[in-house]
Amino acid sequence: MLNVATGAKWVLGNWKMNGRLASNQRLLEALLADPQVNAGHVGLAVPSAYLGQMTHLLAGQALRLGAQCVSHFADDGAYTGEVSAAMLADLGVAFTLVGHSERRQYFAESDDSLSAQIRHAYAQGIMPVVCVGEGLSARETGVQDAVVAGQIAGVAAALAGRDRVMLAYEPVWAIGTGLTASLGQIVAMHEKIRACLLEKLGSSCTISILYGGSVKADNASDILSLSEVDGVLVGGASLDAGQFKNVCYGAAK
Ligand code: PEP
Repeated sequence: MLNVATGAKWVLGNWKMNGRLASNQRLLEALLADPQVNAGHVGLAVPSAYLGQMTHLLAGQALRLGAQCVSHFADDGAYTGEVSAAMLADLGVAFTLVGHSERRQYFAESDDSLSAQIRHAYAQGIMPVVCVGEGLSARETGVQDAVVAGQIAGVAAALAGRDRVMLAYEPVWAIGTGLTASLGQIVAMHEKIRACLLEKLGSSCTISILYGGSVKADNASDILSLSEVDGVLVGGASLDAGQFKNVCYGAAK
């Protein structure tokens, strides 16, 4: 489970469907050599195919291993292609993304499926990082708050009663596009998400809200300096050791 005691902000990378054995090893070795990156508040969500390799390379290291998705089936069985939360736990996975916009878009993940994924992850001691965010047309028509509130409502029952929850606000129009939400847009949405979660989950729950969407070396420290932002979820820039390290330097303060 992800747990941070240092007060540093989270930096979670998402490699998406990228990597090969040799390039993964090179990238990871460059990151592990840097104590500001090889730290408990930094994690990498890697493709399922490479989780085993990462388990091996990360043995005894502080940097945390993450998955990009988890099956909504809990038990072993005839679910071809699926990877269960129990399997992820077996590999030492500390967190898993749930409901990334690319999963919602290409794999039609429903609220029921996402809720099951969240429950199974918690049951295995894996922190689900629930991704929410509006598309461009919702932002352009001003209904982004309602869209995000609806996504949270869809999984609220699975989050209820937890000591700690993590969400990532990722406006879909900012993912992989080079567009970043303005600092004002980020603050406004994070405040709304926090208020919505407090209302649904109560104040005893520790809430972490990350921002994701074209976070890079040159914008990370401004975003991470916002008190409403508890960390960042980094896609493309997590594939480049120099970029990812620089994002981490903004979080380690
Ligand atoms: C992501 O994959 O969650 C993401 C935010 O990607 P990028 O940083 O490339 O926009």
